[in-house]
Amino acid sequence: MINVTKTFFPPIAEYQAQVQRIWDNQWLTNNGELYQELTLKLQHFLRVNQIIPMTNGTLPIQIALNAYAKGGEVITTPFSYVATTASIVWEKCTPVFVDIHPEYLTIDESKIEAAITKETTAILATHVYGNPCDVETIEAIAKKHHLKVIYDAAHCFGVTYKGQSIFNYGDVSTCSFHATKLFHTGEGGALFCQNQQTYHDMWYRHNFGHDGPEEYYGLGINAKMSELQAAMGLCVLPYIDAIIKERKRVCDYYNQHLDFSNVSQLTIRDNTDWNYAYYPIVFASEEHLIQAIQNLAAESIKPRRYFYPSLETLPYLTSEQCPIADYIAKRVLCLPLYTTLEERVLKNIVNIINSAYSG
Ligand SMILES: *Cc1c(COP(=O)(O)O)cnc(C)c1O
Repeated sequence: MINVTKTFFPPIAEYQAQVQRIWDNQWLTNNGELYQELTLKLQHFLRVNQIIPMTNGTLPIQIALNAYAKGGEVITTPFSYVATTASIVWEKCTPVFVDIHPEYLTIDESKIEAAITKETTAILATHVYGNPCDVETIEAIAKKHHLKVIYDAAHCFGVTYKGQSIFNYGDVSTCSFHATKLFHTGEGGALFCQNQQTYHDMWYRHNFGHDGPEEYYGLGINAKMSELQAAMGLCVLPYIDAIIKERKRVCDYYNQHLDFSNVSQLTIRDNTDWNYAYYPIVFASEEHLIQAIQNLAAESIKPRRYFYPSLETLPYLTSEQCPIADYIAKRVLCLPLYTTLEERVLKNIVNIINSAYSG
């Protein structure tokens, strides 16, 4: 079976060596030695201002919304993983969907201002597939209307925009270190921010609302990354350049061999150093997409309909439709993309996709 992704497993001896340190320390969580080491290494590798590693990539979104959105309306994208929208609803805020740009597939910044009301408190946008939003325009709009900007940057490990980490944009950015993501700690994630005050506000929220044992700053929850998660991160991080290089090899193959008169590919925003996190293609119709999925399934190849359906259609919402997001969500398919994907398989995938139009 060829799936859309395959988790990277570091050599087990390297994981055992990290786990041995945990046993030696007799320390499993709460600011342990491995957690501290991973935090520093990530900060250095990503060249980010402030980082708080967390249990997963959803809690940092919820924590940022808890601090900034305050039960108000949150302007957001319909084209993302469900966690983006669900976090807004979970925090008792109202998602207000703004349609996406037809090529970049990120929120259409030119439509944001029309969606702002006096209830609007924040913008939560996704750098979908690791493709940056128009961060400059969004920042200008947010400044003008006194809104906070949170980026769901779950797909963005290693992405830089204009020479610096994409995590350094927005009031807060978040990332997922889930097993299916580019860099992982099994389950895990992180929150990134730009200044000491935000760091403090986010830090206590992820640690039950306190810092020292007795001093409470406000409401908090538990989103702390454990030593076992940090151990995996320390083992995966040394391979990250090789992982990205291998993914580039797969993307280059698709770029060279797919017939782009039939399907369209993602347009990466200028000035971006991308991380090859996903390989989405958009078919001319949903019928073509379903035909391609069936033809691939016959060869035990399982791509994924990332991201379908468009999030404004979730059953627990009543929202106006987003025609472009709906159009894309019905036609987009993410092709298999991982380090050990062989050229023989790639050739097969490309042949099947290219012939989806011949029948
Ligand atoms: C994976 C993902 C998340 C959630 O991250 P978890 O670590 O699985 O909680 C949030 N947003 C997007 C866009 C994602 O792809």
